[in-house]
Amino acid sequence: MAILPIRTYPDPVLRQECGDAEPGTDMIRKLSEDMLETMYSAPGVGLAAPQVGLAIGIIVVDAGSAMGQRDPHVLLNPVITASAESIAFEEGCLSLPEFTQEVQRARVVQVSYTDLEGNRRNLLAEDLFAVTLQHEIDHLHGRLLLDYASMVRRDMYRRKARKKKAL
Ligand code: ZN
Repeated sequence: MAILPIRTYPDPVLRQECGDAEPGTDMIRKLSEDMLETMYSAPGVGLAAPQVGLAIGIIVVDAGSAMGQRDPHVLLNPVITASAESIAFEEGCLSLPEFTQEVQRARVVQVSYTDLEGNRRNLLAEDLFAVTLQHEIDHLHGRLLLDYASMVRRDMYRRKARKKKAL
């Protein structure tokens, strides 16, 4: 396993629409292991492939790691099929250092996805797990936490990120 470098805004890969991940391949298996290791070492509760530079539909999530227990999930080509209730949560993103944003999300989601063996599965998630899934699935469509912020906050962060890149 290897820890991969995390891409940060404004890297254009973060804005790409991701293609489908092919289950059952060594490349995807290795990538999912590396993504989990990268997520744990960051540390974070979720990571999407574009954050390590690949515009393909794979996310890893472990909402339990925030509480010190491991419960890793690898989801290929995830789609939200149902959602209910709402929850406001102050979110951060490994690709947006020093930025947090309160986002209204569904508190409960049902997600359909393909596992590493190629089986289509469903899972039901609540609270932090549900919020993290929605955040990571956003990444697969090029959507960032920044898009939920006010125009003023967005512009401020954009300027700060550009300045950092120029140095
Ligand atoms: Zn993120």
